[in-house]
Amino acid sequence: MNANEIIQNEGSYVLQTYVRPPVVFERGEGPYLFDTEGRRYLDFSSGIAVTALGHSDPEWVAAVQDQAAQLAHVSNLYYTAPQVELAQRLVEHSFADRVYFGNTGAEANEAALKFARKAARQRFPGQEKTHIVAFSGSFHGRTMGVLSTTYKEKYRAPFEPLIPGVTFAPFNDLAAARAAINNQTCAVIVEPVQGEGGVRPATAAFLQELRILCDEHHAILIFDEVQCGLGRTGMLWAHEAMGVTPDIMTLAKPLAGGLPIGATLLTQAVADEIGPGDHGSTFAGGPLVCRAALVVLDRVSDPAFLAEVRESAAYFQHRLRTIEVEEIVEVRGSGLLVGIEMRVPVAPLIAAARAEGLLIINAGENVLRIAPSLIVGRAEIDQAVEILATVFAQSSGA
Ligand code: PLP
Repeated sequence: MNANEIIQNEGSYVLQTYVRPPVVFERGEGPYLFDTEGRRYLDFSSGIAVTALGHSDPEWVAAVQDQAAQLAHVSNLYYTAPQVELAQRLVEHSFADRVYFGNTGAEANEAALKFARKAARQRFPGQEKTHIVAFSGSFHGRTMGVLSTTYKEKYRAPFEPLIPGVTFAPFNDLAAARAAINNQTCAVIVEPVQGEGGVRPATAAFLQELRILCDEHHAILIFDEVQCGLGRTGMLWAHEAMGVTPDIMTLAKPLAGGLPIGATLLTQAVADEIGPGDHGSTFAGGPLVCRAALVVLDRVSDPAFLAEVRESAAYFQHRLRTIEVEEIVEVRGSGLLVGIEMRVPVAPLIAAARAEGLLIINAGENVLRIAPSLIVGRAEIDQAVEILATVFAQSSGA
């Protein structure tokens, strides 16, 4: 099938829940993707912040091939070594004592909400401690449970009624958080750096206040690090820079380097309230994905690797700030999760960048979201900045 046939057949056979540009990707190598016409693209979206080690990383490929040839699946009825090793490594590198595995970011958050509800029911029997506080701009997933905590009305409205008792408080507003969190709250869920909501970092003061309020009201604090976690900010966990730890942290996107995985990390105090049968999944934590994830976690958690991410990020953000174009409102973000807020809709800019061989995405109508792989080098950053500067200049008619 050639590209046109693939695109046509997608229109005929695949449920139309995505709007895609007319390009079919065939192969990836490091920071580059190649389409069916052999055209090379600099991938500065990484499949929405997923391919942290770039495409087809040799060590990752070797681990996946080796594990696939050895054992791919047994379900959670049995023990397998890679799952246990990955859980141990995640615990050793974080605040957490226990790990629950799922298959996606939404699932990791579903598990977090279930665990928070169960913990509240166990600790405060007979009390109505079921409410959840989330924030404006949040994105926690699209399944029926976590959709209730995803802010955008357009994502929620067609599927209501969702789970009751969810309050959205304004993000980064301490007084509003104080007003929203009370003794009926069982969980507070927040992204330390919002992705979909416009690439907006939480302030340290805000996350610290949430910690205080959750302790005061015996609520569970959940940090959704599905997009911002695992090295993306230049720290292993985004919350490390904030001087505060959660009770639960969720991970997904980059963890297995492109294979589907979710992880819900918990303190022992929360884990004590959860028992056999409370949650589960057929595929989760299988040997293939966990072996892939071990490669990613071992590489990304190396302090030298993280130092390089911080250097690349500082260089990239500095170069972006030197682009002088009227339409740029702000360059913001954290590490290699960068947002450029524009005075104009960004869809035409994304299409123009793609035509020049650069892949970037949006975070809302007016914000460009740029998330290269964490191994990105200066030459690629220079190339991307040049393309962006050209595209911005063209769009402003300069
Ligand atoms: N949480 C955050 C912060 C996300 O950015 C996303 C996806 O974009 C999700 C959760 C949902 O992850 P998934 O698409 O793997 O279900």
